[in-house]
Amino acid sequence: MNSTENPFLNSGYYPAFDCMQPEHVVPALRSMLAEATTAVDKLEKSAAPTWAGLMDPLYRACQPVTETWTLVSHMLGVMNNEGWRKAHDEMQPEIVAFSLRVGQSAAFHRAYLALREADHRTPLLTPARRRILDSAILGATLSGVALEGPAKERFNAIQQELATRGTAFGNNLLDAVKSYSLWIRDPADMCDLPAPFRAAAALAACEAGEPAATAEAGPWRITLDAASYVPFLKHSPNRHLREQLYRAGATKASSAPHDNTAHIETILTLRREMANLLGFPTFAELSLATKMASSVEVVDQLLADLAKAARDPGAREHADLFAFARTRGFAENALAPWDISFWSERLREARHDYNEEELRAYLPLPRVLDGMFALAERLFDIRIKPADGRAPVWHPDVRFFEVNDADGTPLACFFLDPYSRPATKQGGAWMNSFHTRDRLPDGSLCLPMALLVCNQTLPAADQPSLMRFDEVTTLFHEFGHALQHMLTTVEDPDASGIHNIEYDAVEIASQFMENWCYDTATLRQFAQHYQTHAPIPEELVAKIRAAKNHRAAYALLRQLLFAITDMDLHARYPRPEWPDADAVKRDAARRLPPMAFVPEDRFLCGFSHLFAGGYAAGYYGYKWSEVHSADAFAAFEEAGLDNAAAVRATGRRYRATILALGGSVHPREVYQAFRGRPPTVTALLRHAGLT
Ligand code: ZN
Repeated sequence: MNSTENPFLNSGYYPAFDCMQPEHVVPALRSMLAEATTAVDKLEKSAAPTWAGLMDPLYRACQPVTETWTLVSHMLGVMNNEGWRKAHDEMQPEIVAFSLRVGQSAAFHRAYLALREADHRTPLLTPARRRILDSAILGATLSGVALEGPAKERFNAIQQELATRGTAFGNNLLDAVKSYSLWIRDPADMCDLPAPFRAAAALAACEAGEPAATAEAGPWRITLDAASYVPFLKHSPNRHLREQLYRAGATKASSAPHDNTAHIETILTLRREMANLLGFPTFAELSLATKMASSVEVVDQLLADLAKAARDPGAREHADLFAFARTRGFAENALAPWDISFWSERLREARHDYNEEELRAYLPLPRVLDGMFALAERLFDIRIKPADGRAPVWHPDVRFFEVNDADGTPLACFFLDPYSRPATKQGGAWMNSFHTRDRLPDGSLCLPMALLVCNQTLPAADQPSLMRFDEVTTLFHEFGHALQHMLTTVEDPDASGIHNIEYDAVEIASQFMENWCYDTATLRQFAQHYQTHAPIPEELVAKIRAAKNHRAAYALLRQLLFAITDMDLHARYPRPEWPDADAVKRDAARRLPPMAFVPEDRFLCGFSHLFAGGYAAGYYGYKWSEVHSADAFAAFEEAGLDNAAAVRATGRRYRATILALGGSVHPREVYQAFRGRPPTVTALLRHAGLT
């Protein structure tokens, strides 16, 4: 196959999404990797401690590989089939090896340090480039580039062992979930559960050797998978069955043959040792080196402030829930852990229920898109116009849009792949960046391109896609990521758009946009009945707003329990008063009433965010981002949401700071430039109804 036939090798600005096939992947990437490796080898020998002699040529050498890999990962996500999987799996090890080869190069590391040294003596870099250089040095340091001899051997062995233990933790958890079933044979125990749930539980029974199981007559199989566990605890009126399922969930993966207890202790020990080898006193400090939060103390303070604010409302919510349950016939003296979800759901139905179908009629996708674009145009002075047909697409449902500045200057473009395609598209929603804003060596400017992927309800034959409200907030969230990528003014690609932003700050721009879905005026502008065009009734908006804060203190306390346990485990454990990791959790729970556990609870054994994912000493990031996004939205509230001129001015300032600066300036300074002060927790608490 020659290059003219391979869309990956022959790509202009618009990727040839309509021609890409799995068989193109291996030849294209192999040839790019060979070329990139030659260029990197050569550069290692000739690297000069200057931007033009090191950083720029290194970026350009790697760019074809990283961009093509982005496209391959994208196609795997949106057009998944055996062919894309095979191609992806075949090339992944080579891609990883290439990125390690660049990231761990001692020669590049020495050249980075020499460039920093030269810049210290005589400043020659822009602040953006200084930050890119610092990130490159930090990345190399954290991958162990500066270690030698036995320390390096030990570091590499720890990395291997941590990868193995993390995978084993995840597999144990999967196996533990798989090995448990709660069988239900009496239809009376299932009659209160939603029909789709009964059907899914019957299907689970069929798969487990009861081929005659039906949604109506059973038997039904309930599992510890969230899609089964959560609705059962919410809806099953049989308290005894709820208790059985709850106790099984609380102890999952904590006993033979699927026991994660030893993995937890080993992982924590190895992380401490790895941090020490790299010169950090604790793993928490290692984790925070790549985060916006400046220290463990700062994170502790945020979590303590939120906990203080949530404690009393949490106790009130609990008393309220108990009183409500009593009026509905609950006869026990206290709510047990397996009663919380059930009564909480009954309370929600009694106080804030709205009909999801009725609401969807007001949320046709074309109106929602128009409303979201109108909002972005109003806030940020941009123009978004459909340009379908200008760029090739990977599926006929995919839309293409262009973004211009108010004066017509082109700024960016994006694809939107809106609908669910269970057979070929990964679940969830995400924003991927393809091109990023980049001043090319020939002086021309490459504009950012964003890929937005959602999984929302399909249109029916005679009506547009009618969205669920959570699909609308998800779309706004991903569009917030895209705006930050597209409206950047930075021209160094390693720090433009969403690049080089600290991990705990990347969700600020996305969560910020979600706030607008709960703004009555914004919502009423676009939420119009798809047949009558009547705007959404005010009462329905009020219900949506109230439902958002249903038992908000309890939800916050739960997140705080996870975040505080995480920080204690990675910053302060072990200690004499904590004989094992579980004692750390129990201690945190004692400080956060009314978080109740059964004595045998072992939820850490199922906490894959910490032990099989990337959230170790980073779980607080969810709340960290939310504090910032809520406080940023509060700037608009303070200006007056109905004061068009003030909202406009605040929107321009938000665009010029949070959306424009990307990773070129530390997010603390970016935030300061927008708000004139650091954030406070006040807005988050007020939005959640906790003040
Ligand atoms: Zn996000």
